[in-house]
Amino acid sequence: MKVYLIGSLRNPEIPDHAKAIRELGFDVFDDWFAAGPEADDYWKKYEEARGNSYEQALKGYAAKHVFSFDKHHIDEADIGILILPAGRSGHLELGYMAGQGAATYILHDDPERWDCMYQFADGVFFKKEDLLAELQQLAAQPAEREPEAEHDRGEHVRLIPQTCAKCFLEAR
Ligand SMILES: [Zn+2]
Repeated sequence: MKVYLIGSLRNPEIPDHAKAIRELGFDVFDDWFAAGPEADDYWKKYEEARGNSYEQALKGYAAKHVFSFDKHHIDEADIGILILPAGRSGHLELGYMAGQGAATYILHDDPERWDCMYQFADGVFFKKEDLLAELQQLAAQPAEREPEAEHDRGEHVRLIPQTCAKCFLEAR
């Protein structure tokens, strides 16, 4: 199963989270992290130097390339995991994944403000060990499940229910 790991470019712990999840047997995409902590700042500087507004920059090749790179892997993933603190893009990404029928999880930091809408996620965790324990269950289970009818993508991510993380969570 593929995991799309969502987080901040400025969070140096992202590769460690990815490694821990990979060790459970998942294919983890955190490759967006390779762009470095200042990628968005340099993009902004570059576009401003060209005389472009934020609105124009979003239509540029650089922004479109980054968007389609990330979206390709988001669409392939069975599971989305948001590591907080994260910015607006991260919250959009997890919301999109939840709507698409991916299994979604959030690992919280210790926020000053509380938000009710985190309930869109299938699981909210405050300790890394608890998130990893949940993922371990998910990694172990799907192969043992009974075959069911296929469902449409849009309902859940995977066409074959035996490999669909969301079906596993709902059957539990
Ligand atoms: Zn399903």
